[in-house]
Amino acid sequence: MKLWSVTALIPAALIPAVLASAVPALAAEVNIYSFRQPQLVQPLFDAFTAATGIAVNVAYVDKGLVERLVAEGARSPADLVMTVDISRLAQLVDAGVTQSVDSATLAANIPAEFRDPANQWFGLTSRARVIYASRDRVADGEVTTYEDLADPKWQGRICTRSGVHDYSLGLMAAMIAHHGEAYARTWAEGLKANLAKKPDGGDRDQVKSIWAGECDISLGNTYYMGEMVADPEQKQWADAVRIQFPVFEGGGTHLNISGVVMTKAAPHRAEALQLMEFLSSDEAQRIYAETNHEFPVKPGVARSALVQSWGEFTADTLDLNDLARLRPDALRLMEQVNFDG
Ligand code: FE
Repeated sequence: MKLWSVTALIPAALIPAVLASAVPALAAEVNIYSFRQPQLVQPLFDAFTAATGIAVNVAYVDKGLVERLVAEGARSPADLVMTVDISRLAQLVDAGVTQSVDSATLAANIPAEFRDPANQWFGLTSRARVIYASRDRVADGEVTTYEDLADPKWQGRICTRSGVHDYSLGLMAAMIAHHGEAYARTWAEGLKANLAKKPDGGDRDQVKSIWAGECDISLGNTYYMGEMVADPEQKQWADAVRIQFPVFEGGGTHLNISGVVMTKAAPHRAEALQLMEFLSSDEAQRIYAETNHEFPVKPGVARSALVQSWGEFTADTLDLNDLARLRPDALRLMEQVNFDG
């Protein structure tokens, strides 16, 4: 297993050379550009290589990926891109750097709501955006809806990350889809008015703030609870909160996905397809569930015991493509209300 690490400092034109010199002498290989962190995806690639003998070379990228793929064009060494958030998957498709993948295995393993009708992107896991609520200062079940977060009763009690982060924009796009722009804007203003402090840091930092007594509830993705519980320093933050599954009035709990696309260039198309299918298999979906505490998309694969301990919830049924489509509107409204200001 060769780690192929490329930083943003290396010009895109040099990547094929870097890759060629780094690839071990195995019969077959597949190259990934990954927004996902090494500790999240490496166990999956190790299992794939063990099962198939196919090497997986990964470049961990956090910025400029769409531009890089466009610049590389047909000479791109990348076969697959793995990322989070439907909007990022949709951006890759819109940029014309993906190809459609026709696979009976993917169609059988991934429910239709978690993949593109045109087979350009495939969801591999889902996650809910939920409330982390202080065990001491918020009653179990006190937060029931996303709309309620704009109620003045929460004034000075809410923490959240930036309003223009993809996770926030996904939730805002869902709010627009449910209630329209005017309502969503007023909601964002109300939420901003209830913040204990300016948005800063990631989802776990907000939970730390609850632990520190700076606020009582925060918005966060579900899998971060798993990460905090497993971290000796962060465990105490996790212990200070309980997860609550809010719903949209007339809807369910907001979901987003992580997923994969095959690049248009894909020099190792057959191996790449094998890896995509593996990622949707029982074995890989179990790894996603147990290692990352994400929700498997494949029916019949259980969520982790920790995730199950939070109880059942009703997922929202908005079309993921609508969330991607409404993202520009969500961004514009968040900027209009100066959410982070
Ligand atoms: Fe995340």
